[in-house]
Amino acid sequence: MRGVPVSLRTRFALYLGAVLLPFLVAAALGQFYLLPRLIGPLDEIVREFTEGLIPAMHLQTALLQAAMPVNDYLIHGNPDERRQFAQLRQRVERAFEEASPEQLTLAEELALPGSARAEWDQALPLGERLLRLPDPVGNAAAARDMERFDAHIERAVSALDKTHDYFHQVIERNRAQARAARSRALWVTFAAFVLAGAASLFAGVVLARSVTDPVDTLRQGAARLAEGKLSHRVEIHRHDELGELAAAFNAMAGQLETDQATLDQLATRDGLTGLYNHRTFYTLLGDELARAQRFQRPVSLLLLDIDHFKRVNDTYGHLAGDAVIRGLGELLGREARAIDRVCRYGGEEITVILPETDPDAAARFAERLRAAVEAQPFDVGTGTPLHLTVSIGVASWPAHADTAQALVAAADAAMYAAKQGGRNRVVRYEPAPAQPAAAG
Ligand code: GH3
Ligand code: MG
Ligand code: MG
Repeated sequence: MRGVPVSLRTRFALYLGAVLLPFLVAAALGQFYLLPRLIGPLDEIVREFTEGLIPAMHLQTALLQAAMPVNDYLIHGNPDERRQFAQLRQRVERAFEEASPEQLTLAEELALPGSARAEWDQALPLGERLLRLPDPVGNAAAARDMERFDAHIERAVSALDKTHDYFHQVIERNRAQARAARSRALWVTFAAFVLAGAASLFAGVVLARSVTDPVDTLRQGAARLAEGKLSHRVEIHRHDELGELAAAFNAMAGQLETDQATLDQLATRDGLTGLYNHRTFYTLLGDELARAQRFQRPVSLLLLDIDHFKRVNDTYGHLAGDAVIRGLGELLGREARAIDRVCRYGGEEITVILPETDPDAAARFAERLRAAVEAQPFDVGTGTPLHLTVSIGVASWPAHADTAQALVAAADAAMYAAKQGGRNRVVRYEPAPAQPAAAG
């Protein structure tokens, strides 16, 4: 399926966002939905509590009103005040029932409505006695009783005031506790959200990096391989899928490197001797000649051919001939310096490129090789070691030739001269003397 290209980093950021979203939703829900619903019932309790105080307030009003007819009777002596008092007394009794201690359990603990009741019970007979007086106006004894009556009513009212104050204190205390609980809940929710968010963010980033970092390393490793740097390996040491991927990547790179080395070997080396092949010989000679010309240093070339090699093949077979060629290659490899290049030119002909070597030194080195071959017994599997000789032609730049082709031709000519001269010898290239014009 083809889609919009989305990097691993973007994907992880999106997943992390998806993980954090529920936290945000939970925090918003808690703050704007759950918490108000938790606080709501508390407000309801406070309201009901306040409503519970109304009967006590009615009682207070009734008590104060009940005192009025008694006072008026002592001032004006109107007998109607008796009826008035009887009605108000009923109201007081009803108000006491409504504000009964069962409904006001907290106040009951304080016995406040109880003490209001006691004051009323003492005021009531006093009031009734005063209202029964036939001539109350100006009666000094009645005035003293009236003072006592008023004092009882006042104490009853103030007992109920204390109830109010107490209730208000309780309500205020509860309100303050609720407010504190609400703000604590808010902070706890906030802290929990911040902690959970930070933990998720941290875990998410660590998880994402634990994937993207090795993937980056692998991607860079693959780029290095693509550039041809086959020795590159990735450094990921983990016991998981990415570790296995890295190990597989390194194994693949190792295999590529081995295959590449094999290909190089096949392309540049000769299969029988392991010496440089004909094509590589020309490449090396070209490079060496260019370097020699640039730094004006001498370079020499030996061309070596086994004498009467056909006889070896004819007498001992071609496998024996192969073994001889291989043995000769090994011998030359041992004798040559590290900077010399030994190549199989073709058949039983071998070339040696000698950098930094003038014709005299090259001829001396060729002579040493010739003697070494002559002295070396070759095993061809007959039980009797075989002795061979070689003819070597020597040519040098700048003395004998200007180009690689010309240098090879000069060495070849010198080698041919060695054969002509009786074989088993070294011949340095000699330019042919100018030919006189052919006689007609
Ligand atoms: P000369 O002294 O004149 O060089 O005589 P020669 O017999 O060595 O003559 P020439 O160089 O012409 O013959 C080379 C022979 O080497 C011909 C061929 O059969 C043989 N030869 C070439 N390459 C190989 C090889 O890879 N293995 C074997 N066994 N023989 C080879
Ligand atoms: Mg030959
Ligand atoms: Mg030969």
